[in-house]
Amino acid sequence: MTERHVPRVIALVDQRSAGLPIPTAAFAAETRITADGLLTDQRTRPLRDLRISVTDRCNFRCSYCMPKEVFNKDHLYLPHSALLSFEEITRIAKVFVAHGVQKIRLTGGEPLLRKNIESLIAQLAQLRTPQGHALDLTLTTNGSLLARKAHALKAAGLQRVTVSLDGLDDAVFRSMNDVDFPVADVLAGIEAAREAGLGPIKVNMVVKRGTNENQILPMARHFRGSGMVLRFIEYMDVGASNGWRMDDVLPSSEIVKRIHAELPLVQLDPSNVGETAERWGYANAAGQHDKTLGEIGVISSVTQAFCGDCNRARLSTEGQLYLCLFASQGYDLRSLVRDPVQQADLESVIGHIWRGRNDNYSESRSTQSGDSAPAQRRVEMSYIGG
Ligand code: SAM
Ligand code: SF4
Ligand code: SF4
Repeated sequence: MTERHVPRVIALVDQRSAGLPIPTAAFAAETRITADGLLTDQRTRPLRDLRISVTDRCNFRCSYCMPKEVFNKDHLYLPHSALLSFEEITRIAKVFVAHGVQKIRLTGGEPLLRKNIESLIAQLAQLRTPQGHALDLTLTTNGSLLARKAHALKAAGLQRVTVSLDGLDDAVFRSMNDVDFPVADVLAGIEAAREAGLGPIKVNMVVKRGTNENQILPMARHFRGSGMVLRFIEYMDVGASNGWRMDDVLPSSEIVKRIHAELPLVQLDPSNVGETAERWGYANAAGQHDKTLGEIGVISSVTQAFCGDCNRARLSTEGQLYLCLFASQGYDLRSLVRDPVQQADLESVIGHIWRGRNDNYSESRSTQSGDSAPAQRRVEMSYIGG
């Protein structure tokens, strides 16, 4: 494995508590928005997907997310008192569900590091949409603790997991996670998740040109026909610490081309609106999708903007609401949920915030030139989750 350039790591600017003003209780009460599941933003995008970060800590140091040089022993993580409690998360999530959220993804940091995460899952599993349906409840993990926890997660009410895995070659994988974690343990975690019934399992691979691009084909071969969906993610300019450069991005079109040359693919329709991945099915000899071989997904967050259908909101570990992965500031919902008087306004305030949303970072980036991340301060991925 070779690095094509000396990694540049940029010191972290702490954006964590720099909250945007929330619509005041008086304003929100005057023009009260009652949840009816039909909320839309300025671009008529509904609110369907809530990603909740449950910890800002992680036992990996992936260079594209929490580079060692920045997230070192001097890095200050949030104190426990700053984190939303499980009851607070559930109270906020309930309001989001009333406004139209159908899917909740727990993330981080590494979500399985949060103590008693099963208890939060059990509370969230009780929530119902206005139509009376259970949520699509899922979790993204680096898989390191999955072998130990899969059964308890399932028993608590988790439906499925997405596991991040950046290569099959042990040396490449150890160097990607940068803490010398063996790939065999993550593969054992995936197997445990399958046995526990946490499927359909998705496997996410972030592709960094010159670093793990030689793992694309081994990964495709390994997961083809496994019943799991492997998704390739373009290395993104999230946060401000990973020293992102356009040169490090391997476009999804190139990934599809390389796989197609050995394992023929056919393009599939999106499974639902707001779906981030473009789907490609493995083809049979007649050039048609062979469902027994399954499919891959490519997430082209850099080369192909998909803001038009973006229906995702993100709640940070300390209760800041972010309307875009690339936002520099969030709205402080923790102060509302902790205030006995103001918490009654949560429904209306969230309604006002989403109605005012106009974010389209990926689209506007693709109209700009430039091959390094903009100087604008942005929040870290490990803080708001992916
Ligand atoms: N620790 C968990 C994990 O790795 O799955 C959950 C949190 S992690 C921030 C969520 C997802 O974001 C992972 O699939 C990770 O690979 C992805 N990610 C992090 N930094 C990224 C970047 N710069 N570009 C693309 N994806 C990134
Ligand atoms: Fe940790 Fe996930 Fe970020 Fe890797 S991508 S450092 S596993 S939070
Ligand atoms: Fe959604 Fe922001 Fe990503 Fe666009 S850039 S798809 S608005 S999160």
